[in-house]
Amino acid sequence: MDYDLGESAEALRLRLRALIEEQVPDDFLGAFTDDPEDLALTQRFCKTLAAEGLLALAWPAEYGGGGGTVWDQTVVREEMWAHHEPRGAQYMGINWVGPSLMRHGTPEQRARHLPPIAAGEVIWCQGFSEPEAGSDLASMRTRAVADADGWRITGQKVWTSYATMADWCVLAAATAPEAPTAGRITLFLVPMDRPGLTVRPIPSMLGPHHLNEVFLDEVRVTPGDVLGEVGGGWKVIRDALAYERVGIARYARCDSLLARVRAELGDEWDGLPAGLRSRWVRAMIDVRVARLLAYTAVSAQERGEQDDASASAARIATTQCDQSVAELLLEAAGPDGLEGGRTAFLHGAVDDHWRYAQAATVSSGTIEVQRMLVARDALGGAR
Ligand SMILES: Cc1cc2nc3c(=O)[nH]c(=O)nc-3n(C[C@H](O)[C@H](O)[C@H](O)COP(=O)(O)OP(=O)(O)OC[C@H]3O[C@@H](n4cnc5c(N)ncnc54)[C@H](O)[C@@H]3O)c2cc1C
Repeated sequence: MDYDLGESAEALRLRLRALIEEQVPDDFLGAFTDDPEDLALTQRFCKTLAAEGLLALAWPAEYGGGGGTVWDQTVVREEMWAHHEPRGAQYMGINWVGPSLMRHGTPEQRARHLPPIAAGEVIWCQGFSEPEAGSDLASMRTRAVADADGWRITGQKVWTSYATMADWCVLAAATAPEAPTAGRITLFLVPMDRPGLTVRPIPSMLGPHHLNEVFLDEVRVTPGDVLGEVGGGWKVIRDALAYERVGIARYARCDSLLARVRAELGDEWDGLPAGLRSRWVRAMIDVRVARLLAYTAVSAQERGEQDDASASAARIATTQCDQSVAELLLEAAGPDGLEGGRTAFLHGAVDDHWRYAQAATVSSGTIEVQRMLVARDALGGAR
């Protein structure tokens, strides 16, 4: 299988690597941590990428983009994930918020929100999941009740990544609670400082990563805050999740960690059990399969097709790699691998990857749900 995306893609990779080397310390792991220095670094780095025209590389120039191809953007995301995502939480804006706005936003919303995302000035979060509605998002209980000026939203979201650092949220609420899935939910673009909105961090085994609860008490939203049509939220969510699933190129992180751990082990590599080394080879193949499936999904997006099944297939393969590679790295590194902190083995990268990988088959939709999406597509069932 030839993954060569051409000379310009290779030049882009080298340019990105040079910027990373210049601006991101070797021991950086902090894409989404609660360390203010990590946040400052990611903010700076996004501004640098934006100034170089690389942050929103595949967006149209009218929105502050670089007018590149989706394959250019694929190179960007691979290099970012391979280097512990120095765009930080802002990757979400590029990955799925921007594309969803381009597809479903009004001209005013596009003009207002896309340029700041492309300039690296704003962090968005995703307020979809609730305590009783994760896989079954359609049953969400957060209500948006109509009043004279728009709606008032009351309810609770959970597992909202980066909510403490976010400026804006794409928030889902039921505007027609008695309606079936289609017609029940509406998406709103909500500033995180709007009165009535409270964020509470959730400590977790992921380490210092941001997961949060978000409470909404009569939060006011106007008709201008609606993304897509009133009652049309499900369609926008499906699109957003498909973009999100393809955009998290953690297969590139797996690839880079497999190589880095092997290099770090040096001569000790030959002393590892043969079975472990065979699994290593298998893992490298799995990483390439995940990459291939991601490219299949990118091709569908390039053709303008909404192909949930290929996005889900890519996500399944990537998250499985995340977990099998996590176990393998840990076995190869031995007890040292479990140590966190920047003075640890590979600056704690094995520990960091292992922790995050445990949640990989849950975040952005569980692996079981992804499999159902693929099966329904293959068997032609209803969504
Ligand atoms: C690290 C991380 C970050 C996250 N970030 C965000 C975020 O930023 N914004 C946001 O909105 N959400 C976020 N989430 C939430 C995530 O989308 C949900 O956790 C996920 O969709 C699963 O929902 P749930 O937790 O309610 O589990 P449930 O839906 O209750 O699922 C529990 C189990 O039942 C299985 N299951 C459920 N329904 C079916 C079915 N019909 N058939 C077969 N099996 C089924 C699931 O596969 C799973 O194994 C994040 C989650 C994690 C772990």
